[in-house]
Amino acid sequence: MSAAVAAAAAAACVSSNSSSHHQSDRSVSLTLPPPQPLSSLPALSRYESQKRRDWNTFGQYLKNHRPPLALSRCSGAHVLEFLKYLDQFGKTKVHTQNCAFFGHSHPPAPCPCPLKQAWGSLDALIGRLRAAFEENGGQSEMNPFGARAVRLYLREVRDTQAKARGIVYEKKKRKKPQQLPQHLTATDGNHFDQQGGSGSGSGSG
Ligand SMILES: [Zn+2]
Repeated sequence: MSAAVAAAAAAACVSSNSSSHHQSDRSVSLTLPPPQPLSSLPALSRYESQKRRDWNTFGQYLKNHRPPLALSRCSGAHVLEFLKYLDQFGKTKVHTQNCAFFGHSHPPAPCPCPLKQAWGSLDALIGRLRAAFEENGGQSEMNPFGARAVRLYLREVRDTQAKARGIVYEKKKRKKPQQLPQHLTATDGNHFDQQGGSGSGSGSG
């Protein structure tokens, strides 16, 4: 399992059931302690420290925004702006439709297609920022990271990148492992046109 897949799976968990908290710390009181030197702070989990970093990055982005943008006035549209701004720091090659490697997960040669943020990274990022927004006093119904426009954008990015990179993002479901009969013998066909289970109960009898 690659890191990207793991991140995507983690993000899927975050987005699907936002009400359940895995690592909720009930001992945290509402009044925050005064800032302390780093050495005396307990070690944060990777997720928590990443969330803090992301939140700071977004705060910095708001500060540098022209015209300046207050968090309280931040909408889903601004979040989309932020995500697109992040693309310039991306490291994931996303082939354009004109590229000969469009749909290749492992292109044999370099190409001039742009580097972008991978969908899995963006999805996980939004999950963290969404949590951070509410932890920092934001109201959930005002949460710009939970806006419909953001969800739609992420879905579009996922579909676009799946096609461009020849990667299928599968949702990880925690169900009993089901052993399917291997009647689908793999041919050298492409990965996209897998027969989806769209038909239901077309049996005769
Ligand atoms: Zn390309």
